[in-house]
Amino acid sequence: MKLYNIKENDEQVSFAQAVRQGLGRNQGLFFPEALPALSDVDGLLEQDFVTRSSAILSALIGDELAPEQVSAMVDAAFQFPAPIKSVKEGVYALELFHGPTLAFKDFGGRFMAQSLAAVSDGGKITILTATSGDTGAAVAHAFYGMENINVVILYPKGKISPLQEKLFCTLGGNIHTVAINGDFDACQALVKQAFDDAELRQEIGLNSANSINISRLMAQICYYFEAVAQVPAAQRDNLVVSVPSGNFGNLTAGLLAKALGLPIKRFIAATNVNDTVPRYLETGRWEPKPTIATTSNAMDVSQPNNWPRIEELCRVKTWGLETLGKGAVTDEQSAAAVRELNQLGYLCEPHGAIAYQVLNQQLQADETGLFLCTAHPAKFKEVVDDILGADIELPAPLAKHAKLPLLSAELDADFDALKVILRQVQAK
Ligand SMILES: *Cc1c(COP(=O)(O)O)cnc(C)c1O
Repeated sequence: MKLYNIKENDEQVSFAQAVRQGLGRNQGLFFPEALPALSDVDGLLEQDFVTRSSAILSALIGDELAPEQVSAMVDAAFQFPAPIKSVKEGVYALELFHGPTLAFKDFGGRFMAQSLAAVSDGGKITILTATSGDTGAAVAHAFYGMENINVVILYPKGKISPLQEKLFCTLGGNIHTVAINGDFDACQALVKQAFDDAELRQEIGLNSANSINISRLMAQICYYFEAVAQVPAAQRDNLVVSVPSGNFGNLTAGLLAKALGLPIKRFIAATNVNDTVPRYLETGRWEPKPTIATTSNAMDVSQPNNWPRIEELCRVKTWGLETLGKGAVTDEQSAAAVRELNQLGYLCEPHGAIAYQVLNQQLQADETGLFLCTAHPAKFKEVVDDILGADIELPAPLAKHAKLPLLSAELDADFDALKVILRQVQAK
């Protein structure tokens, strides 16, 4: 597999290099040189999740890793299903939260851990990542206990749900968590600063497990195929997929799936009031505003760092950006959508409900709709309980972590202070 840096096209890397480096020069994102149209998509859709996903990822990775090895990685990473549920006539929910940390980021996080182990030269690696809530948990659990890999996770203090925090800040061992006095964009800026520091990068074997790492996106391509495979064949022609978006990795993966030949008519980019992308699609002007805290906090991102990949993909495929649906949803509207879904007999948290809300507004009579449920409702228990006046049950993994003490360090958004922590971790 060959990839190039979107910002500096002369930087070309292999899959192994892209996985190890995360980001290219000048903070450029890596993008696949070729997107092989899969030959027999209908045949693939007949296969089971792991078999099909191995075939897709092997086609992408090419001869760098043997198909059997890719299969073993997928098998280890995708140990849980991604079922679709019928919510009402012509509308399905794709449940991506059956993994160990109850959010879709388990797919990307776990496949990235497998990929990194597969391409590692055995030296010490420090994974540095910023999280708006769910990446942290997925990455922490995916790497927990792995040899020669230390994980440092930055998150905005007080801006993620208490249960989210419990899920990844209670592990200890090779997992180090830092609560930053700032918002998610501040955390992301610190990560970028660290990557720009060539000396530090070398010294601690820096790697990122953000959605910027290509292996994460590649894993996510697979559940779009899994979703379509479950939609009755008669409804597959006019499929519209609505993606609740923050950093836009999930939507990038969906569009990549379409580029590989998955029959999806169109996508909808659904956001909360942090609506840089919907406004951009409307006006053509990229004008991020300060991030606003919402009840769908994993989408509180005003400078989505995967967006350049979407632009690049649309350029390569000559897809007009105007073909992308869009919509921004307030907390009041997402609460109303949670209630509406509850009346339909479907329990949903605000991120998924935002995707439902925009889909429901824009779905045409002859179309079938699919919205992505990115987290288990219990992961946002406080919000969901509040909206529904309920007391929803915690699934076992959450209940277990909820009882453990937090182990996070606390830090101002100051790069020098972060460097001290990174060096301490590396020295351990
Ligand atoms: C991370 C996250 C999102 C946003 O996904 P992106 O790929 O960053 O757009 C949406 N919902 C939940 C629950 C998340 O954790």
